Amino acid sequence: MSNSPVLEIPAFDGRALIDGKRTHAKDGTVFDCVSPVDGRVLTQVARCGQADVDAAVVAARTAFEDKRWRGLPPAQRKRVMIRFADLLMQHRDQLALTETLDMGKPVKYARAVDVASASNCIRWYGEAVDKRYDEIAPTPDTALALITQEPVGVVGVIVPWNYPMIMAAWKIAPALAVGNSVVLKPSEKSPLTALRMAELALEAGIPAGVFNVVTGYGPEAGSPLALHMDVDCIAFTGSTRVGKQIHVMAGQSNLKRAWTELGGKSPNIVFADCPDLDRAVEAAVGSIFFNQGESCNAPSRLFVEASIKDQFLEKALKLVPAYAPANPLLPETIMGALVDQIQMNTVLRYIASGKSEGAKLLAGGEQALIDTGGCYVQPTIFDGVTSDMTIAREEIFGPVLSVLSFTDAADVVRQANASVYGLQAAVWTRDLNKAHGVARALRAGTVHVNQYDEDDITVPFGGFKQSGVGRDKSMHAFDKYTETKTTWIRIDSPV
Ligand code: NAD
Repeated sequence: MSNSPVLEIPAFDGRALIDGKRTHAKDGTVFDCVSPVDGRVLTQVARCGQADVDAAVVAARTAFEDKRWRGLPPAQRKRVMIRFADLLMQHRDQLALTETLDMGKPVKYARAVDVASASNCIRWYGEAVDKRYDEIAPTPDTALALITQEPVGVVGVIVPWNYPMIMAAWKIAPALAVGNSVVLKPSEKSPLTALRMAELALEAGIPAGVFNVVTGYGPEAGSPLALHMDVDCIAFTGSTRVGKQIHVMAGQSNLKRAWTELGGKSPNIVFADCPDLDRAVEAAVGSIFFNQGESCNAPSRLFVEASIKDQFLEKALKLVPAYAPANPLLPETIMGALVDQIQMNTVLRYIASGKSEGAKLLAGGEQALIDTGGCYVQPTIFDGVTSDMTIAREEIFGPVLSVLSFTDAADVVRQANASVYGLQAAVWTRDLNKAHGVARALRAGTVHVNQYDEDDITVPFGGFKQSGVGRDKSMHAFDKYTETKTTWIRIDSPV
């Protein structure tokens, strides 16, 4: 493609990783791994199915039962996890390049955000694991009751393609740290870094069979994992549509615990008394266009109080040209390619629906860089959006901002909460009472006040309503991958 930096594309190994070994699908089938940067085929990837999932679950179960990992003292698992985190950073450039080629995000962010955050997450859970204590209940002297947290066993992990390494790390890190075995199914659209992560985990000292990766399509490789009778827990991040099926599959099989982190349509509310309009504009524009808009928590519904809307939009439009899509392999690019043709066409269909339902197109609205063979869409802003329009209700998962307006706090809370989703929200005002009142009234797992981009591994991440069940990140995530056990010990003759 034009302006393409001269670089050697690595040879990728698309085989699954089961029981410590790279392996073809049992029936030998593969699928093409296509780069959205320019349409080139990067490699062929194992198209795993039921037999491969069965083999991975057997390997994971065997490793769990013989205690090769969970039997280690927590301090030793900690050291291995930290080595794993270090190895990710040592291979940072290679992993970032792989991520960019595989799913189209700017290499600058793949390196600074994706690899660094995934490594930090693995390190954080590793460091935490030998600092957790169990409990003794306040029972009478005649008995002792221990309340202990034990690993659940075999954890199935299914993740999407938008932050492949981070989404995987948020689940595998706490699950592995407490001693579980894992079978990870990455998205068929971005399988390569997951495979490399599992190789680096082996190199770090996580024993064979403890961390397995099966590649392939959702219905072929994901469903067998969610339906498996010997998987104890399924941790899923992806769409609300598939998330609902995951809960059904858990119920249809062995009632495995199911944790789902799903879609969003997050409201970003700017009152006329916003303390710093420039900062609010930068956050509104920067957060919806970051990662090409392919973020579950992207603030895709912007509510601006009517009296300042024109001023706000004038400032916003000045920032848009900086987000013109460009080759994501160039170090200065901040808007890359969408993950594939399917996603690009979905986004273009939503743009068409915005136009046909009467929203006013202020910027973008077209496919870009068509002759590259890649999947690029212009950063797009619609004004005059109303809550009943499709682009205000449905998750687009692309660089499209819908601008709505409101008259007062009660009005905007009603509009903001009129969504099936409840992942994140933001409110901008200098009035502490209003900020607190609106933040409490918003039905969302995270509410930002006068900013949108704070994030840290120490805080829980997850949604209300149809944005899912359970929380990734923070010490709370350990709860997802542990069973609570009560052990009663009779004390016959207390002194
Ligand atoms: P998706 O639901 O299509 O796929 C997610 C994963 O599920 C993929 O690995 C896919 O292969 C697998 N899958 C698909 N069908 C399946 C089936 N029948 N059985 C088992 N597995 C199946 O989602 P996507 O397009 O990959 O990702 C985008 C979605 O992810 C968006 O809705 C986004 O909001 C959401 N997301 C949520 C969070 C969060 O933390 N809440 C984070 C990132 C992405």
